[in-house]
Amino acid sequence: MSTASTKTGRPSQSAEDYLERIQELIDEKGYARVVDIAGSLEVTQASVTNMVQKLAEMGYIDYEKYRGLTLTEKGGAVAARIEKRHATLSRFFSLLGLDELTQLKDIEGIEHHLSSETVDCLNDLATVLEEQPDLLKAFHARRKKARRPSSSAPGGPA
Ligand code: ZN
Repeated sequence: MSTASTKTGRPSQSAEDYLERIQELIDEKGYARVVDIAGSLEVTQASVTNMVQKLAEMGYIDYEKYRGLTLTEKGGAVAARIEKRHATLSRFFSLLGLDELTQLKDIEGIEHHLSSETVDCLNDLATVLEEQPDLLKAFHARRKKARRPSSSAPGGPA
């Protein structure tokens, strides 16, 4: 669970989670502190410190005591790839009409398990759907029919 790399030398799924979150925190606040990473990933600060040391050893992050964490060029490249994959899944899920919260939860759940080949497929499928609004319309019509009225659905009939 807490190993930082796979046998192929690529970052492990949990290492990817950390790199993604560190990049997000830096984008949001300009810095990433251990305490913020811990809060965001819902893990202990000790786990974060442990993983941060491994990621630093692997050359993904720089750790300076008072400035906090920064991504190295190598770490930044991995984070950019993770971000792009997240964006692709988000684009695809948005076309399906899934709400933002469901998207976020599901994407975080699956993204680190998908091969780049599968992500490429979903990206191409998203493009096809965007290029064929009729097909997308048919899909949404079907979803609407399948949906049962439920108390958790906000708004009511549109
Ligand atoms: Zn993500």
